[in-house]
Amino acid sequence: MTDTPTLALAKDLISRQSVTPIDAGCQNVMIERLKALGFEIEVMVFEDTTNFWARRGTEAPLFAFAGHTDVVPAGNIELWDTPPFEPRIKNGFLHGRGAADMKGSLASMVVAVEQFITLYPNHKGSIGFLITSDEEGPFINGTVRVVEALMKRGENIDMCIVGEPSSTEVVGDVVKNGRRGSITGDLTVKGIQGHVAYPHLAKNPVHQSLLALNELASTEWDQGNNYFPPTSFQIPNVQAGTGASNVIPGEFNVQFNLRFSTELNNEIIVKRVAEILDKHNLEYHLDWTFNGDPFLTDTGKLLDAVVSAVGAVNQTKPALLTTGGTSDGRFIARMRGQVVELGPVNATIHKVNECVKVDDLEKLTKMYQMTLENLLV
Ligand SMILES: [Zn+2]
Repeated sequence: MTDTPTLALAKDLISRQSVTPIDAGCQNVMIERLKALGFEIEVMVFEDTTNFWARRGTEAPLFAFAGHTDVVPAGNIELWDTPPFEPRIKNGFLHGRGAADMKGSLASMVVAVEQFITLYPNHKGSIGFLITSDEEGPFINGTVRVVEALMKRGENIDMCIVGEPSSTEVVGDVVKNGRRGSITGDLTVKGIQGHVAYPHLAKNPVHQSLLALNELASTEWDQGNNYFPPTSFQIPNVQAGTGASNVIPGEFNVQFNLRFSTELNNEIIVKRVAEILDKHNLEYHLDWTFNGDPFLTDTGKLLDAVVSAVGAVNQTKPALLTTGGTSDGRFIARMRGQVVELGPVNATIHKVNECVKVDDLEKLTKMYQMTLENLLV
């Protein structure tokens, strides 16, 4: 049996060792296919990262697919049942690094657009592709830079599907219509180092911090809303002490992270954390890292089109969720358009033996194609 166009393209992409931020020729493969369909191509290289923007048509609305050609490292190859960069089919699953995150999606997008344009060469609006090779890395020179360049010239994406693996059990059972924001605080509480036998000459920053940390950890930050779970506060790292059992530490370092809903923003969180710390009279220094704003795409043209396409293929509607880590969707959402994520089952992503169901790739291709038909015909 010959491979379907989606499967053949997915295999071609997986066979290229595009470990982040290396693209390994994946984007050229996509570019050649899109050029043949009449797309205008713009390669955008920023530092070590290759990106491209492709567009077919000049009219509004501008609908775009977004994704990444880079993959996470294979890790210990000995643990893989099949070589990570040699695509293999086993029991109806396509195996290889990137099969689910997200070369399968990229193949589905390209083939969906090919089939759509064959049927509707004079479609309404415009179709775009925003593809990066730095999503799995530090995301400094990827999607965010392309978005900045497009916004600068007023070329805003109105509607976007990001191909991240959004599904849990069958493709399309979950569509992500937003993501939580993320913010990290690095707190240093200052004390006075000394001998544990002479506590009156020292000041223990661990003891001083406990009540404040307890309050931070037990605070109800918000109750979430229709689409978002309540904001969560977690302490992933703490550090104090010299290792000796007779020394009171001079400093206590605590790192905490909040995953927050659209009920909050960076400023409110910074203010509320400061209020709690100040209440406990701590001498401290606090550095913040803003990892991303939350975004939400509520009911509207794009969500309707995607939900109806998924429903037509699966005979059942997708759940709309905002769970999971941050994604490049947060950068695209800055253009104030609608952004959703629809892609394969994410059970094996970043793991050894990453794989995707071959049938799911065909279904995903159909879902993408029907979304285009719902929006641009
Ligand atoms: Zn991904």
